[in-house]
Amino acid sequence: MYDVAKIREDFPILSRTVYGKPLVYLDNGATTQKPRCVVESITDEYYSVNANVHRGVHFLSQQATHLHEASRETVRRFINARSISEIVFTRGTTESINLVASTFADSQMQEGDEVIVSVMEHHSNIVSWQLQAARKGIRLRVIPMNERGELLMDEYERLFSPRTRLVSVAHVSNVLGTVNPVKRIIGIAHAHGVPVLIDGAQSIPHMKVDVQDLDADFFVFSGHKVYGPTGIGVLYGKEEWLDRLPPYQGGGEMIKNVSFEKTTFNELPFKFEAGTPDYIGSTALAKALDYVSALGMEQIAAYEHELTVYAMRQLREIPGMRLIGEAEQKGGVLSFLVGNIHHFDMGTLLDRLGIAVRTGHHCAEPLMRRLGIEGTVRASLGLYNTKEEIDALVAGIRRVSQMFG
Ligand code: PLP
Repeated sequence: MYDVAKIREDFPILSRTVYGKPLVYLDNGATTQKPRCVVESITDEYYSVNANVHRGVHFLSQQATHLHEASRETVRRFINARSISEIVFTRGTTESINLVASTFADSQMQEGDEVIVSVMEHHSNIVSWQLQAARKGIRLRVIPMNERGELLMDEYERLFSPRTRLVSVAHVSNVLGTVNPVKRIIGIAHAHGVPVLIDGAQSIPHMKVDVQDLDADFFVFSGHKVYGPTGIGVLYGKEEWLDRLPPYQGGGEMIKNVSFEKTTFNELPFKFEAGTPDYIGSTALAKALDYVSALGMEQIAAYEHELTVYAMRQLREIPGMRLIGEAEQKGGVLSFLVGNIHHFDMGTLLDRLGIAVRTGHHCAEPLMRRLGIEGTVRASLGLYNTKEEIDALVAGIRRVSQMFG
């Protein structure tokens, strides 16, 4: 039984009010709220275990190291990676993509080589590559989509050339909610001998991810979008790929031996983890992953699907409603515009009713350009949202619409 009322009790912030109204938090695509166990993990570790990891002989350092490395194992299990060598802790999705873009371009790409991305990418999966494009003369090829917000797979296949070196696409669009057919995308790329990076920022909180089943070469996500803390994220990479890539940053932890003449690098995953890692964050992230695992990713997915269907049905009935993103396979991201009401006005007025949504281009300006709009209002669901909150959103939108006549 999925007991959402009981689940909500784990998230103290959900019972607060804003402007005297109960908070309706529908900005989970930007960041999720944290259950008590995640917040307590942070204070507990600082109060009772805090010490720098990996290089201490003393008790606390060893205990902190144990927690940090146990968290890596939790992440490995959560995404079913083969080995903890394949789990690199980063600051988040953005840093993970930049790490791959930089090291992959440096070691695997020449001028004129190509990276395939899609039209619905977040800026982090565009600009990271553009920086390399400018530096190395690499070209970006873009998978187009149809009006419902589904990638055109035939067009995708046509983008491959002898110069294609990597495909880098979002698992779930943060604007449209489209769940891209990443297993097929990976299969097609592999048939061309090309590896694939999957941006899992918007999928990891909502569905079971198995990187071996997907056969992803790289899979990246952020802790804060999956009920964990800010400042920590994950780069999964197949060992064979991580081995081939050079270090990203230099510093402590990532070396084996250093002399002024020659430095040798540490083994995986430490080769990519220069400096003191966010060991407090990794423990808290593991707590978050344990939390969602205990609820069950399938159960979360089923519950959120039910909410999404419920929301879409009601939103469609609002006069002047334009839903943006109506893919057959769609997660709980509800982007919309109503009549001529500016997305910013809608968001601001909903906020006054206690309803937190996001407005703007959602870090996907090329997608906005494709859609011929400046921005949208976006309500994005999480595991603790309820049908009552959807009702409040719908009533709020109707009220704002009436204000604008
Ligand atoms: N990719 C997608 C699809 C996202 O939705 C986001 C954040 O909204 C990111 C990447 C960037 O994540 P972060 O800011 O946590 O690095």
